[in-house]
Amino acid sequence: MAALEIHQIPVWDDNYVYLARDPETGSTAVVDPADAEPVLAAARAKGWSITHILNTHHHPDHVGGNLEIKQATGCTIVGPRADAARIPGIDLQVGDGDTYKMGSAEAKVFDVPGHTRGHIAYWFADSDALFCGDTLFALGCGRLFEGTPAQMWTSLGKFRALPASTRVYCAHEYTQANARFAVTVDPENATLAARSAKIDRLRAEGRPTVPSTIAEELATNPFLRADDAGVAAAVGMSGADPVAVFAEVRGRKDRF
Ligand code: ZN
Ligand code: FE
Repeated sequence: MAALEIHQIPVWDDNYVYLARDPETGSTAVVDPADAEPVLAAARAKGWSITHILNTHHHPDHVGGNLEIKQATGCTIVGPRADAARIPGIDLQVGDGDTYKMGSAEAKVFDVPGHTRGHIAYWFADSDALFCGDTLFALGCGRLFEGTPAQMWTSLGKFRALPASTRVYCAHEYTQANARFAVTVDPENATLAARSAKIDRLRAEGRPTVPSTIAEELATNPFLRADDAGVAAAVGMSGADPVAVFAEVRGRKDRF
């Protein structure tokens, strides 16, 4: 099967919505439509027909365009079983371990609670693409609105296990602010320092820093590195349990 064609649509202040098209069947998914109009316009401009919406979680900046896009296209809305009541227009409920077929493209679904209790992610293994919503960001992770540090650490562990080449299509351009924080809890990490400088260059040129890869995140994202001795030492918790270190890093970011 051919790899998905993925088109990134910046909307509002810092959201990314994605169009993902299966070239074999023409099936095209919108991932987390914050809004309808810019998404419909982008699909028109590409000549792509939207057949699906894939939602990761219930927040308005991820489902706000659901009903209008469904009305305009007749598409099928796929979302988390654990949170079906909060997903407008949901047709198909999916959850951990499910395989969802979008045309000839296949996504594996992960339950990744923490940011919200019903958050899911879609991994298209053959396309090396992960749509992770607000669970993992470039150099960051989502705030824990409805979950515990232990839940989020477990959720992020599912992403840590993915192939290093996996591209991380997260839902926000938060990377520069995340980098400012990351260097405070991983100060000796030269790879992080280099990435932070590159991010500044990209943003100065008005370019996106997303997608990144799992390899980059493993090397530089402090929220994936709570079991790293350098990060634990930097927050004064050498030898502590990774969940405790993760909770400390997340708490510091909340106050940063
Ligand atoms: Zn969210
Ligand atoms: Fe969001």
